[in-house]
Amino acid sequence: MPIRKVIIGDQASLRQVSSPVTEFNPELKQLAADMVDTMRDYDGVGLAAPQVGALQRLIVIESAPIEDIPDNPVFPLKILVNPSYEQLSPTQAEGIEGCLSLPRWYGPVNRFTKIRVTAQDLDGNPVKFDAKDFEARVIQHEVDHLNGVLFTDLVTDPTKLRKRVPRDE
Ligand code: ZN
Repeated sequence: MPIRKVIIGDQASLRQVSSPVTEFNPELKQLAADMVDTMRDYDGVGLAAPQVGALQRLIVIESAPIEDIPDNPVFPLKILVNPSYEQLSPTQAEGIEGCLSLPRWYGPVNRFTKIRVTAQDLDGNPVKFDAKDFEARVIQHEVDHLNGVLFTDLVTDPTKLRKRVPRDE
């Protein structure tokens, strides 16, 4: 499966509102499969279709175990077509976010800690589930991408937006 190139930077194409998926065809399945491979190749925990240049309402999320970080929050792969959510938690919690489209930038963002997700699978069947904590955060981040919103728009304190540069650069 081909790895697709992730669009980097605050580009105009990342600011578009993506269109609902209406055709559950082989092209959609290919796009989703490529997005999963791309997310894993980039060591991401989520990827939205507009990040690979497809303005369609499709996201993939996954947080695999990391050997060196035993308490790393883990959730299984989900491929969500036309995802939306409603809040189940009355309040939001702050957490640090990054984005494959904004490499090395990190900042604090408020997100609902518990949400109910409504979506479709790749065959168009309805999907409904509850997500909490890190998984809920990632879903909210990825759904934002479908509406042209980047996490940097939402940082609770812009002075806390940080760029981490590896030492060997
Ligand atoms: Zn992102």
